[in-house]
Amino acid sequence: MADAIVVILDECIIWPAWPGDHEFCGPKLYTESSGHTPMSQYPNARFLKSANAPGQFVADTGTEVAVAGRSNAGKSSAINVIVNRRQFARTSKTPGRTQLVNFFELRDGQRLVDLPGYGFARVSEAMRRHWGELLSGYFESRQSLAGLILIVDIRRRLTDYDRQMIGFAESVGLPVHVLLTKADKLKKGQAAAAVLEVKKELGERATVQPFSALKRDGEREAREVLERFLAARG
Ligand code: GDP
Repeated sequence: MADAIVVILDECIIWPAWPGDHEFCGPKLYTESSGHTPMSQYPNARFLKSANAPGQFVADTGTEVAVAGRSNAGKSSAINVIVNRRQFARTSKTPGRTQLVNFFELRDGQRLVDLPGYGFARVSEAMRRHWGELLSGYFESRQSLAGLILIVDIRRRLTDYDRQMIGFAESVGLPVHVLLTKADKLKKGQAAAAVLEVKKELGERATVQPFSALKRDGEREAREVLERFLAARG
């Protein structure tokens, strides 16, 4: 089968949703594929809202896929690559936003939800409890939630926080896909060993792939998983 024909155009987007965000220009990907596995595109993707409590979540209709990860694991970078928008999820540390549940619309009725980064070393017990309740409340309440993409730094492997997230997802019967990101930081053999190790630990509980936002390695597979999760609920 012929590979997709990919055309990259430069495009500027006015993005007034967040204070300090004005306009950014970035490559946007257009494809004409052979028809079997069209590369997903989100030309109308947009930020919807941030929530700090379940009462602020967007209406629980349609389908959404959550993306979670330890703080600094590379979650924002991975989202930007998968959605193919520079600065879609901010990679710069914007402390306020990294602690919130951020809802993005990918297409009509299909959302990506950027969950708060966890694992900060220096946060109060009260804050830790708040995040725990926010995350467990999110997993328990969302009928539209179709899957979890977990971002893990390939050099750190799984942490107990990651295992807890997988546990949340499992408890409500959600499929989990693990992106072992920053794979460019390891030699090929080391990266392959890390993938095997995590696959061995998780077995049937999750699918696992290596990923690099820097090199855009694993981009297509990650997007296909996102599309599969979104399609599972319609
Ligand atoms: P987040 O806190 O999980 O959203 O992490 P960010 O996406 O902000 O990334 C944290 C840091 O890791 C930033 O300095 C990124 O440039 C860097 N980073 C993220 N992904 C990759 C990757 O695939 N390769 C490399 N080498 N660096 C990455």
